[in-house]
Amino acid sequence: MSTQTLSPEHHASIEAVGTLFADSGFGTPEVFGVAPGRVNVIGEHIDYNGGLVLPAAIDRWVHVAIRRREDDLVRLVSAQAPGKLVEFSASEELAPEGKSWGNYVKGVVAGLKRAGFAVPGFEAAVISTVPVGGGLSSSAALEAVFGKVILELIGEEMDDLALAKLCQKAEHDFAGVPCGLMDQAAVILCEEGKLLMLDCVDDSFQHAPFEDPDWGLLIINSCVSHELSDGGYAVRRDGCHAAAKILGVGTLREINPAKLEEALKHPELTEDMQRYVRHAVTEIARTLETVEALGERDYARAGELLNASHVSLRDDYRVSCPELDFIAELAQSQEGVAGCRMTGGGFGGSAIALVRRDCVESLSRLIEQRYEAEFGIEPKIFETRPMGGARAWKA
Ligand code: ADP
Ligand code: MG
Repeated sequence: MSTQTLSPEHHASIEAVGTLFADSGFGTPEVFGVAPGRVNVIGEHIDYNGGLVLPAAIDRWVHVAIRRREDDLVRLVSAQAPGKLVEFSASEELAPEGKSWGNYVKGVVAGLKRAGFAVPGFEAAVISTVPVGGGLSSSAALEAVFGKVILELIGEEMDDLALAKLCQKAEHDFAGVPCGLMDQAAVILCEEGKLLMLDCVDDSFQHAPFEDPDWGLLIINSCVSHELSDGGYAVRRDGCHAAAKILGVGTLREINPAKLEEALKHPELTEDMQRYVRHAVTEIARTLETVEALGERDYARAGELLNASHVSLRDDYRVSCPELDFIAELAQSQEGVAGCRMTGGGFGGSAIALVRRDCVESLSRLIEQRYEAEFGIEPKIFETRPMGGARAWKA
């Protein structure tokens, strides 16, 4: 990897992160790195049901500049956490502290040490365009880019899937988020022009083509986040696992969609469980069909699948919210939109639309106006196509 393969926007960001590095008194960087955010195109709430997920890396990036220190001190600055220098010692027993963003880096350092690498002290600066807390995985991007730049700094290599798992463990142990592997896998393993098809049963993956000069993905960040008093995520995950047990399967993946109605008649399933099972089984099938449709450039069919996914998440899984429903319904009714659905865990965050690129400008303006008129909130909208994953190179 050299800077020659970077886009002009990357060059500007690399220059900016180099400037932040120098202005922080760190001198000249030795290594630079980038990692993208990610969006899940389809396959929602099925990672813990043994399903397939279909994320893409997006055109929003975290950029890092790093330099080795002679001692074991780690010193970090971020443009997104101004004025706060994070410091810890790489050689001590590492543990998370409070809610500091340094925990993500600490978790990666701890993982690399556990994998047998000698991690020295270093100084690093971060600049990111991945919206923080917008459901586009700024946290996985941060973990991934530090994995890459530290390995480059010490002249070592690691298998990408192993690095994704290391970053996932950092998120579990140092940020307290019990996530699946999708986010970290996406931001590391994605390739340009392709979606990542990750099988959550055995972490095997394939790259599914989605590259068309006329079609793109529109990300519409609702800029709302609703906390649920019932612990929305855990209730549903536990409900799915309990339903699988009742139905005598390891995961809901094992339920044949053709046998779904029969399975739903099981007397021990509660009404909630019936809805969860229906979502999981149909969403797993939709994900496989979407891969096929996009591969054949059948956007009408892919769009219908996205729309059906939204309905299933709204009515069966019940993880949408009025803001996401408004965006999905509005987008779905517009010229040039094949389909639109909420994406991510739900209760806020972003929607994703499959759009004809010549309609992106007018569509974005329309959604902005109508959404703001309805909710008094300005949504954040941008277009993307599938990007490549995290990488690092010598300055
Ligand atoms: P998401 O991953 O959906 O963006 P999370 O809550 O998982 O949201 O992660 C957001 C957290 O990640 C922030 O609170 C912060 O601690 C950390 N983070 C992400 N990007 C940056 C950044 N550029 N600088 C500092 N911290 C960051
Ligand atoms: Mg996150």
